[in-house]
Amino acid sequence: MPGERIFTFLGTGTSVGVPMIGCGCQTCTSNDPRNQRYRCSVAIQVPQGRILIDTPPELRLQLLRAKIPFVHAVLLTHYHADHLFGLDDVRVFPHHLGGPLPIYCNMETEQMVRRTFAYAFQGRDYKSPYNFVPLLEFARILEGEPFEVLGERILPIPLDHAQFKVLGFRLGSVAYCTDVSYIPSSSMNMLMDLDVLVLDALRTKPHPAHFTLDQALEVISELRPKQAFLTHLSHDLEYAEVQAKLPPRVQLAYDTLSFPF
Ligand SMILES: [Zn+2]
Ligand SMILES: [Zn+2]
Ligand SMILES: [Zn+2]
Repeated sequence: MPGERIFTFLGTGTSVGVPMIGCGCQTCTSNDPRNQRYRCSVAIQVPQGRILIDTPPELRLQLLRAKIPFVHAVLLTHYHADHLFGLDDVRVFPHHLGGPLPIYCNMETEQMVRRTFAYAFQGRDYKSPYNFVPLLEFARILEGEPFEVLGERILPIPLDHAQFKVLGFRLGSVAYCTDVSYIPSSSMNMLMDLDVLVLDALRTKPHPAHFTLDQALEVISELRPKQAFLTHLSHDLEYAEVQAKLPPRVQLAYDTLSFPF
């Protein structure tokens, strides 16, 4: 429906994806589609267009599956391979947009994109109707300073991902916080009064760079969003088994899950 805001999970898996190559565990061999997870990204439909958060390796497959022909802007949480290396797939978007695709990220991420995709910044031919390289236009964003995309006010929230700094994003009463092992108290304040919180919950065993399921549940009980979804899930979390034990209003996300907001 035009005018509606819809949040869609394009991928909900950890960095190696689920099933993991060569693994014969219960989750990796499951027929339940909720146990089949592309690397993490989300699409947000707003009245003026579509926003994509992160460009994981399966981006093309994710967009085809979700029937999303192009997006108007990309926000990047950080530069790890599982969130970035599908960036080349955006090559086809400028054809629809009539110009470069805006990429919102911090300086660190921009520098890494310029290094990793160096070919995209060497002698581009804007006049060509066929884009052989992604046409990107960076928009620098700063932690804690709201910015506007497609008429929507978005707040970039600093999160700790082991020693890395990652951005979470809040759009109205919905926040997306992937790849996080600690939320500084100033950032916790930016996550109050949410209708929906999406939070990293890798697995049950401790990990230096990600919340465990218990740590994520602790943060959720502190922030008290109306609804929480867990993402960046490893094969340790078999969907039906884990979901059955979760408290009310907390749900494991799965690929293709969407909700209006
Ligand atoms: Zn990740
Ligand atoms: Zn497995
Ligand atoms: Zn990461």
